[in-house]
Order: sequence, then structure tokens, then C-alpha cells
Amino acid sequence: MPRRAAVFRARRSRRNSDLFVTNKLILGIDIGGTKSAAVIGTAEGVVLARAAAKTDANDWRRGVATLIELARDVCRDYGCQMSEITAVGVSCGGPLNFETGTIHAPPNLPGWEAVPLKALLEAEFGLLVQVENDANATAIAEHRWGAGAGCRNMAFLTMGTGIGAGLILNNQLYRGRNGLAGEIGHMRLVLGGPLCLCGKRGCLEALASGTAIGRMGRERFGDVSVTAHEVCDRARLGDPIATDILAQAAYFMGLGLAGLLQTLNLERIVLGTLAVHAADLLLEPIRRSAQENCWPSVWAGVSIVPAALGDAAQDKAALAVALPLIKT
Ligand SMILES: [Zn+2]
Repeated sequence: MPRRAAVFRARRSRRNSDLFVTNKLILGIDIGGTKSAAVIGTAEGVVLARAAAKTDANDWRRGVATLIELARDVCRDYGCQMSEITAVGVSCGGPLNFETGTIHAPPNLPGWEAVPLKALLEAEFGLLVQVENDANATAIAEHRWGAGAGCRNMAFLTMGTGIGAGLILNNQLYRGRNGLAGEIGHMRLVLGGPLCLCGKRGCLEALASGTAIGRMGRERFGDVSVTAHEVCDRARLGDPIATDILAQAAYFMGLGLAGLLQTLNLERIVLGTLAVHAADLLLEPIRRSAQENCWPSVWAGVSIVPAALGDAAQDKAALAVALPLIKT
């Protein structure tokens, strides 16, 4: 059984006191629209044990009960008590209130309206809990342990269903006045452009997200089953329409990034989701467009790179959320 094997390896590692700088254990909880996971890990981002189950997106009471069960399962599997955990980090799709840790019906969790998750988990576990939106959580993880390591000023952007950013400025997550910093996906670039899910037209997200690429594919191929991944597959085979769709999306993505660079004078931009899966097709055109659309002095020294945490990104993002609660 692979899960048991993972737990066994973790226990052996735990006895090796030289392996980790600290031995503080973190419980990370990642809440996705279809699956959720609880992991035990370290402040260095090492995942030691993991348990996962289906998310109940429509009934938050059942959903939260599953998270609590997963947390207890993963502790039992790893062989520790809840009292040995130092802090709990939760990564979840927004909108959410970071200060109160309340979830406000994210698009992928429609039944999770006004869920006081932080308070519920703190009462259940008797531990400090921090809740963060998934783009911010992944930005912290990529900054600490991934493609943003060593940067003082960076942004992490998703390029999947939507386009969301987590901003690290002066080595700190920047949330803005009320947690809406990084909503770059709704920066309007084309007046009268395609309709966005937010209700406005011509947002970056409606021009360059995976969703937008899929929509353009369906429109231009006249086939309702086309997805963004299929557009990428066709472009790899040299299809001129698919190539043109990706060129347009990459142009607008680069234009959006240029706005971010001109405003924040970042040193690195880390791109996730489609920019990782289709890095061969998208990265260079995105870089060219970003360069074309900002000052040479702003562009000099900037790197635009794919995310580096791979399949473990969400687990590590949940662990990273708890870092401010830990004195290392
Ligand atoms: Zn929008």
C-alpha cells in the first residue's frame, strides 16, 4: 500500500535528528473543489505523511467533518498526537477573510457560505490555525521552497480556471487593504472584449486563462468538446488556429505581467498551472510580450519561470500558511 510505505519512510526520517533544522511539526490542510488533503510536514516544507478524501462542496458541515477526520487520520498514520503539532495552515480558494479565517462560498465550494473555519478548527484541535487563499499560499510556498527562493520581490500567478496572483514584497506576503491584492485576473485590458465571469468585459482572465483558451478553441474549431489542453495538443502538432489562440493568450498574459512589473518592479514572476503543463508553448511568447510591454530598465534582470513545486505544490502551500505562527 503506497500510503503506508510513505508513512514508514517518514517515521525513519523522523528519527534522524540531523535531517531537519527544526523538528516542529505542522498540520497542513488543502481544500480543493473535488479533493481535500491533510498533511503532516515540517517548517522546511518536507511532507511526512498525507491523507486525502473527496470534498463535500455543497454541505460545509460534512466537508469540515471530513477535514477533521483527515487530520486525525494523518496524525494516527504518522504516529503523533495532535498535541505534538505546532500550528495548522489551511489553503482554500477565495474569497475568504484572512483575519477571521471565514470562507465565503468560493466558486468551487458553493455550499461553504460564511464558514468560520479558523474558529471551528482551533476549537477542535486546540491549536493555532491560519487560513489563506490558495494563490497566496502557493506564493509563500514557491517563495520559501520553490521557483521564487532567494527573491525579495516576486509574484506567483495561476493560469488555470482563473488567473490569480500572490504577491511577495520585501519577503512578505502582501494582502492589500482588505485581502484583494493580486486580483490581476480582473484587470481590464480590452474594452468590449470577451465577457468575464466577474461580469465585466475584457479582463485578463477572459483573455489568457485556461478557461479562455478552451473557450477560444471551442469558438474557433466549432467543437463544444475542445479544452485548453486540447488546444495545446493541437498547437504541438502545428495546427495554425491552435497556435494563433495560444499566441493571443500569451500576448495578453505578457501584457498583464508587464503591468505588474511596471507597478511593482519585481525580480521574478512564477507561473503555475497551464504555464507549467504547456511551458514549451507558452513561456517564451509570454516573456517576449512582457518584455515588449514594459520599460527596458524594468525588464532588466527579471525572470519569468514555471512553478517548481510540481504535484506537491498544494500540500506545501498548506504547510507554508502556518509558517508565520511558528518561531523557528
Ligand atoms: Zn473579470
